[in-house]
Amino acid sequence: MRLVNFECDGERCLGALEGETVVDLSDSGLPNDTIDLIAQWDRAKTEHAVGQGPRLPVAGVRLLAPILPRKNIVAVGRNYRDHAREFSESGFDASEKQMIPEHPVIFTKAPTSVIGPDESIVLANDPTGTTDYEGEMAVVIGRTARNVSLDDAPDHVFGWTIVNDVTARELQKRHVQWFVGKSPDTFCPIGPVITTVDELPDIGSSWLRTTVNGELRQEVRISDLIFDVPTLIATLSSVLTLEPGDVIATGTGQGVGIGFDPPRYLESGDMVEISIDGIGTLRNPVT
Ligand code: MG
Repeated sequence: MRLVNFECDGERCLGALEGETVVDLSDSGLPNDTIDLIAQWDRAKTEHAVGQGPRLPVAGVRLLAPILPRKNIVAVGRNYRDHAREFSESGFDASEKQMIPEHPVIFTKAPTSVIGPDESIVLANDPTGTTDYEGEMAVVIGRTARNVSLDDAPDHVFGWTIVNDVTARELQKRHVQWFVGKSPDTFCPIGPVITTVDELPDIGSSWLRTTVNGELRQEVRISDLIFDVPTLIATLSSVLTLEPGDVIATGTGQGVGIGFDPPRYLESGDMVEISIDGIGTLRNPVT
């Protein structure tokens, strides 16, 4: 199942994407908010509603972020080897202790930074003019997780989505802690769908590709993560409670703007597209 949020009569409505069709679930009796739907997840009831709901051509629908996080988005830094190397060599990581981290590097992004598909990344929100893209696979948590073992971690995944961990590089470096550089408004595009784990059980075999204006910049296999999804869930839940609807962006691969010399920061008029097999394409213009 591919869950979406879309605009209907000026409101945010829940839907499911099936091919080129959006099934409107807003009058199905299911919770209309994605986080509530996940927390009260009833697969049979949801599948029944998808079979019954009114269908709209996706071309005529405005998709929104498929989830509105109520908490900070958790994100992982330097979680692919080639990217860890390019980031280290760029000199922008003021917090670096070792190039390949011994433990996951974990930070967060403010929920106010979230935007949906086709919404603009606004460069004016980065006063330093060093805005960069980071294509990432993100995990959506399905069940409350505390002290979860590696073996049990997969049972706590609801599904997968795409996050562009847009970053103001100079702010990331200047403030040492990454929160400010990662949290400007519009710097967390999410979507276009959440693919449920039953539909895409082996996310590791998916490829992630990022293009800027059609030029391929990033191409990584999700299984190349240094710290995989069970490790991230086990690590986080060993000290804090993960809740349904929590989003964990798992890290980006080689090919971000600062990996080039000179850096290739985003510019007004650019179009960033991040695709992951089995999820779709998250497309955002830059203004
Ligand atoms: Mg990142």
